Amino acid sequence: MKQYDIIIIGGGASGLAAAIAAKRAAPSCEIALLERQQRVGKKLLATGNGRCNLLNRFPTPNRYHGSGVSLLKAIYQTKDVPALVSFLDSIGIPITEEEDGKCYPCSLQASSVLDNLRLMAEHLGVLTFCDWEATRLQRQKDGFLVSSKEETLFGRRVIVAAGNVASKHLGGTDLGLTLLQQMSHTITPFLPSIVQLKTGGNPKALSGIKINGTVSLLSSGNVVQREYGEILFTDYGLSGPPVLQLSGAASRLLSQNKEGILSLDLFPKQSLEELIEILKKRKALFSDFPLEQFFSGLLHKKLSLSVMKSAGLSPLSRKGETLNEPELLNLAKTAKAFSFPLTGTNGFVNAQVTAGGALGDEFSKTTLESKKAKGLFACGEVLDVDGDCGGFNLTWAWASGLTAGEAAAHSILEGSYDRRTSR
Ligand SMILES: Cc1cc2nc3c(=O)[nH]c(=O)nc-3n(C[C@H](O)[C@H](O)[C@H](O)COP(=O)(O)OP(=O)(O)OC[C@H]3O[C@@H](n4cnc5c(N)ncnc54)[C@H](O)[C@@H]3O)c2cc1C
Repeated sequence: MKQYDIIIIGGGASGLAAAIAAKRAAPSCEIALLERQQRVGKKLLATGNGRCNLLNRFPTPNRYHGSGVSLLKAIYQTKDVPALVSFLDSIGIPITEEEDGKCYPCSLQASSVLDNLRLMAEHLGVLTFCDWEATRLQRQKDGFLVSSKEETLFGRRVIVAAGNVASKHLGGTDLGLTLLQQMSHTITPFLPSIVQLKTGGNPKALSGIKINGTVSLLSSGNVVQREYGEILFTDYGLSGPPVLQLSGAASRLLSQNKEGILSLDLFPKQSLEELIEILKKRKALFSDFPLEQFFSGLLHKKLSLSVMKSAGLSPLSRKGETLNEPELLNLAKTAKAFSFPLTGTNGFVNAQVTAGGALGDEFSKTTLESKKAKGLFACGEVLDVDGDCGGFNLTWAWASGLTAGEAAAHSILEGSYDRRTSR
């Protein structure tokens, strides 16, 4: 049986970072990186629409969710943004910053991020095995057996960096969670996050329309989350950055069978009073024209017809001058709160991340070593941590991967684990 000092299960963002960090910390360690797909880092290639939004400058804990946030708070103390920028720099990836702290590689190519990670791991002597799917993890006195259907390897330390179920076509799977369950870890329920939302209210008629506006997720009359940006109407519901941003909260509402409403403010720059004034001027300007023309030049035609229907105005062949005060007020209110009932998400297949995973409390805050099985570590999305849209998830993948990789290597160098078990 082949033996390694460290076996890393999963060749994605966190696994590659862990491999590089471990090899740098302990160059003499033999490290095997196992990847079930034909090549490592397939998901990375799809990140940031192929540009890889690889970091966020402001990864404050409130941008993250799940039981692992307490781990993240501790880990970001040392693996802070300068440390992560320095890691990326050390593998030849200088970054460029765009709005809201979003950082990209200067090349603006996700493929270059993967190339540099892969080449650096190879250069350092990490042994990568693709088409190698770990299906079983067994505890031994001085390490672990890692098995696929065909082969079993022995690792003195094991790092589970197998990601989670989002985007199956890019490698998303629950296998990593199963391996951790085999080591008695608790898995919290998982939900799709950073995903498009399905709505009622016939969005099909508006499919393809893009607007800049505010989306509020409401439940029982309260605002759960509010986001601004480009909203896209689709045949199933709503998409676009602000919708993806609040999709985690929407997923949680749906899982609790709570009512959710997506309320769009189509005029976020104007207060209700200002919008009423604008509509009054329109009434004077368009007094002789049918209501169909009322928003012409101000709002997308199809959208304006839908808003007017929602406001109960009919027939739309009526002239502008016939609009009375209550109707104008109602029209303004409808345009400021154009609402759709939340009916679902587009599921794990289309989700960018999974909310839920291995329970955070069961791992060390400083090393990410398992409290259930000494010598076992975990990093990345397999842990119950999910971040908002904007580079927060890769920030966590690097920080947790570096932490687990360094800690596994140090524990080999110190022989602490072997001393503990031989006592
Ligand atoms: C379309 C898309 C766009 C995204 N864009 C961004 C973005 O711009 N910025 C951002 O911060 N985040 C983004 N994300 C999220 C981000 O990609 C993930 O959070 C991150 O890749 C998680 O890293 P990971 O190492 O935990 O898991 P992954 O990158 O998913 O890697 C896990 C690897 O383990 C392998 N594996 C799983 N089980 C086994 C097993 N049993 N044996 C062997 N190998 C196994 C998988 O094949 C996979 O390659 C995006 C995600 C998607 C799907």
